[in-house]
Amino acid sequence: DPTAPSTAERAPASAALLARARAVTPGGVNSPVRAFRSVGGTPRFMASGRGPTLTDVDGREYVDLVGSWGPMILGHAHPEVIAAVHDAAARGTSFGTPSENEVLLAEEIVERVAPVERVRLVSSGTEATMSAIRLARGFTGRPLVVKFAGHYHGHVDSLLVAAGSGVATLALPDSAGVPAEMAAETVVLPYNDVAALEAVFAARGEQVACVITEAAAGNMGVVPPDPGFTEALRRVTAEHGALLVSDEVMTGFRCSRAGWWGHEDLDVAPDLLTFGKVMGGGFPAAAFGGRADVMALLAPDGPVYQAGTLSGNPVATAAGLTTLRLCDDAVYSRLDEVSSTIREAASEALTKAGVPHRVQTASSMFSVFFRDGTVRDYDDARAQDTEAFARFFHAMLDAGVYLPPSAYECWFVSAAHDDAAVERVLAALPGAAAAAA
Ligand code: PLP
Repeated sequence: DPTAPSTAERAPASAALLARARAVTPGGVNSPVRAFRSVGGTPRFMASGRGPTLTDVDGREYVDLVGSWGPMILGHAHPEVIAAVHDAAARGTSFGTPSENEVLLAEEIVERVAPVERVRLVSSGTEATMSAIRLARGFTGRPLVVKFAGHYHGHVDSLLVAAGSGVATLALPDSAGVPAEMAAETVVLPYNDVAALEAVFAARGEQVACVITEAAAGNMGVVPPDPGFTEALRRVTAEHGALLVSDEVMTGFRCSRAGWWGHEDLDVAPDLLTFGKVMGGGFPAAAFGGRADVMALLAPDGPVYQAGTLSGNPVATAAGLTTLRLCDDAVYSRLDEVSSTIREAASEALTKAGVPHRVQTASSMFSVFFRDGTVRDYDDARAQDTEAFARFFHAMLDAGVYLPPSAYECWFVSAAHDDAAVERVLAALPGAAAAAA
């Protein structure tokens, strides 16, 4: 029984808050995967975070391997980020006018990611992908969007088809409330399948506005593109006059200082890129950007409308700018070090316990699939032993390690994961592997 180790008695204050939350909020949560539905048990309500750890409302401390699903690359409550936030907030929390930090943050993004000639700030990754596909449709005058099964691009209607992440966690095929006519404008292909891509473009290429892809998939667990796949996306889209949109909401500024685009020695420049998570430093800030001639179509210069009351918010941009400026080479090498230590120890512990598994990486992003063999697409990712994962998850939680509460999510490390935090994770692994067996 995966719920047994995580009953309300272990987390009475969380359980009490959950009961109150359920009375006023669907499922008691503001984003579905937080509800622990696929692992069972009581979701922990967190009270504070510092460096590599989170502390829940019952006073238990956890080494955090979720990092707010990606943003907390420097760990929680980084003193310089907090100081920048205090300073910005003291000068006013929202102006609804242009402000200097927006310019500085945009310059930082353009400087880091060469294919981004112009960038617009928004407040969530969902807005970024939604706006990017509207822009691609506006630029090409074509209706269709091609996406890959298991890729999550936020809860945009036309992208909530065979989406990974929480949709996979809840075992939903798609979302109710998305009209069939809208879903029909989205073509879903298997990931890492060049032949399927070529076939769709041969049949309907002149109707395709864009292909959108996670730069390296992290929302069905971590599934990097096969060597040559991104190049094939670039070639096929260019041949048919469609745009290539690379979703770097998760990988951006995490896989390297320039994201996945800068990590691999790829000779591939996407037309548009989307960002979020790290660039907000724990606040709601995200962006989309790319070719100047495409971005020129956006209002107020062009006919493609896009706007936001809180876009470029001064507190969010202060947090994001400070975070990006602190993300230097030392940060990226620490992420790599922590990631490889944890994933090697996880694999060793699971091997010793006889648990079939596969660890996959995209730079410092990684996840553990509870199945044997290479995972190249969504079908592979879904063929895992999610009950074994649930037992593993709860044993880790009981030992003070907070993993993503789903077998379909990436594990995130931070530069604040010091040796003591890593040791606590390593110490928890053998017991959790035994529980999974
Ligand atoms: N794109 C990718 C690749 C993501 O991982 C996510 C969120 O997990 C999104 C888009 C949506 O971002 P947000 O949750 O900020 O709307």
